Amino acid sequence: MKINFNSGPAALPREVLEAAAEAVLEYEHTGISILSLAHRSPEFEAILDEARHLTLDILGLDNSYEVIWFQGGGRLQFEMIPMNFLAAQETAAYIDSGHWAADAMSNVARYGNLHIAGSSAVIRYRSVPRILDIPATAKYLHLTSNNTIYGTQCFDFPNTEVPIIADFSSELFSRRLDYSKFSMIYAVAQKNLGPAGATLVVAKKDFIKHTVRPLADILNYSVMADKNSLVNTAPVFPIYVSLLNLRYIASKGLAQIELENEEKARMLYEFIDHSNLYQGIADKDSRSKMNVCFTIARPGLEQDLLAFAESMNITGIAGHRSTGGFRASLYNAITIDDVQALIKMLATFEADINK
Ligand code: PMP
Repeated sequence: MKINFNSGPAALPREVLEAAAEAVLEYEHTGISILSLAHRSPEFEAILDEARHLTLDILGLDNSYEVIWFQGGGRLQFEMIPMNFLAAQETAAYIDSGHWAADAMSNVARYGNLHIAGSSAVIRYRSVPRILDIPATAKYLHLTSNNTIYGTQCFDFPNTEVPIIADFSSELFSRRLDYSKFSMIYAVAQKNLGPAGATLVVAKKDFIKHTVRPLADILNYSVMADKNSLVNTAPVFPIYVSLLNLRYIASKGLAQIELENEEKARMLYEFIDHSNLYQGIADKDSRSKMNVCFTIARPGLEQDLLAFAESMNITGIAGHRSTGGFRASLYNAITIDDVQALIKMLATFEADINK
């Protein structure tokens, strides 16, 4: 297998893949594949139940939070948030910290008023906005905790009475935080949790209780929570693989995972900072521990570096198509040894072109 630094769909721990492969052939002595397991079977209800408990346990949240699974990825959440919570005359505050944050914002005008609480667009999203203007009357504040494309991350979250909704897609389960600060968090599975096809929403029961307009059940957080994510046929396999990963995360412990994530990011940034060829993109105080974005001082060599990486069994390090350059995503499944292999490859490439 190659070492896969892709930003998503992304690498999953080997033991998760092995257990998933086994379940594809037969799910726990049921005589059928997990791919054929009915979404309304007791077995799948047990999967949902365990996933709920593990999610709340790992995040340190109690039963005042709901755990809901959606399809439709991040884009559907961007739309559903103002659809459920923002009435026509009301205002929602958004922090514009990158491509996905701006994408989330772009849906608001269909439902109510948008207030941009802070933006780092003028500095090409090299850091997360720190000076914020959050109107006390805002219905909610939306932020993106980790900006996958620009490689920046929030380390301090705003202290505000306004309910915070946070897109944790590219970092959920990577670090300890006081998650009770948030009224709702969501994450697409395909980065640090499981395969594409499921999105995890963790939301305060009180916060999602009322929608501001009549909505179809499938687009209504409160109804989806009441129906245990089973309004329609749920994506059984992505949720099951996510559960396997939740078990892996719970048994390893979030503290240990955080420690390793810190070390992986430290090693790679330190290497980049000491190299004459590679340059980090994000401002140092906003550097993401999940997505390390960098360029090379000799742009003509980008394709050569990508080809060299592949020849060394390293894949997925091309930057996003909108930014170019390189990006190494250091999600939980990437080990310290994997990062050492990446650094060795980058160092060898640099030494070779200097010969
Ligand atoms: N939010 C963040 C932080 C992302 O990195 C992405 C990219 N996958 C999305 C949302 C969009 O997710 P999707 O492609 O599932 O709509």
